[in-house]
Amino acid sequence: MRVSDYEPIVGRSAIEELRLLAAKLSGKVIQMINSTFVGGGVAEILSRMIPLLGQLGVDARWNVIKGNEEFFQVTKKFHNALHGRQETVTEKDFAVFLETTQKNIEEMELYGDILFVHDPQPVGLIASRSSVIASRRRSNPQKWLWRCHIDLSHPNEEVWNFLQPFVVQYDASVFSAPAFSRELPMRQFLISPSIDPLSDKNKELPQQTIDSVLTKYTIPKDKPIITQVSRFDYLKDPVGVIQAFELVRKSIDCRLVFAGGTASDDPESDKVLAEVRQRAGNNPDIHILLIPPGSDIEINALQRASSVIVQKSHREGFGLTVTEALWKAKPVVASAVGGIPLQVKNRFTGLLSYGIEGTAYAIRQLLTNPQYASRLGENGREHVRYNFLITRHLRDYLLLFLALEHPEDIIRL
Ligand code: UDP
Repeated sequence: MRVSDYEPIVGRSAIEELRLLAAKLSGKVIQMINSTFVGGGVAEILSRMIPLLGQLGVDARWNVIKGNEEFFQVTKKFHNALHGRQETVTEKDFAVFLETTQKNIEEMELYGDILFVHDPQPVGLIASRSSVIASRRRSNPQKWLWRCHIDLSHPNEEVWNFLQPFVVQYDASVFSAPAFSRELPMRQFLISPSIDPLSDKNKELPQQTIDSVLTKYTIPKDKPIITQVSRFDYLKDPVGVIQAFELVRKSIDCRLVFAGGTASDDPESDKVLAEVRQRAGNNPDIHILLIPPGSDIEINALQRASSVIVQKSHREGFGLTVTEALWKAKPVVASAVGGIPLQVKNRFTGLLSYGIEGTAYAIRQLLTNPQYASRLGENGREHVRYNFLITRHLRDYLLLFLALEHPEDIIRL
């Protein structure tokens, strides 16, 4: 993908601005660090962004921390607890986190001029800072950024109190939405995530490709398809989606597709998948699909084949699946959690719903009123064009990196 390929979508001036900002970062190395190369929204964004930054002349590289299953079970617990879910976290869990953090500090090369650390799993790497700084010239200290993709508004206090001493050592933090952030002693930046309109996940597809994906998964095109795409995770409420579908199905003939994958840093997903399959039973109108990582064209095709897209999460980060659906001009029914209300403006770019009955009601409304549904979808696409595409995200990151060079909050171009 060339940076100029985005010009027809976002306009020439947006692209020129990116080049101008990138030029000011020449000579700097940006090191992105998270916990997985595949699965979930963070990996998705980084995999698209790194090559584009490279084309703009910014030396951005990507490394992941290593951890065994036990570590990822702990970080999954942390993740749930930070989202506010009830979790029992033990002293052993904290010890496992610290041990793995220490191992990564010893084994990883932390070479960037700017270390851009994503989410809680690698947050403890900052503990290496004092020794790293000591080994570098004082005139060129590394800058550490913590990018939090999750909603920290109501965290489990025990887990937050454990992580906070790491977080406060960073030079700045970045949150996806104002409502996600916390009082912290350093500079905070608000940057929404984004999708790439030219990726396999989001590009236009010929009808033939869409049809062949439906055939592959034996999904007949005989009636409207309602879809939720998400990892098999309790916070995405897959069973609630099935229940809402069953209510809709009482009065409208339709199908449900629940397409999900598992992420290598989420050991809980197999259990959730088994429960979901059991709940779906032998209902021929419910299609539970386990999609291997990297099946972007397939996810794209399933979203495009849908009449309504649902995201009935109990908790969300930003909710990139919603962004993807809106960009495809699909009518969306989603719960008002995490970043979803930034994307779904109720009755303008989609419908916000509450609970199983509310979700079923909203789906019915869209299925019985296709004109209204398509107007919401079109509005949703424009909302994403202006706010949630990768070009806007790149611009915000470039400005962020430049802002770190300046003690004050003002950047003069
Ligand atoms: N995704 C995927 N395959 C799946 C499930 C999800 O490729 O089986 C993608 C999805 O299209 C989106 C991302 O993973 O791009 C999920 O991001 P989101 O913010 O919705 O949720 P997260 O998984 O980060 O909680």
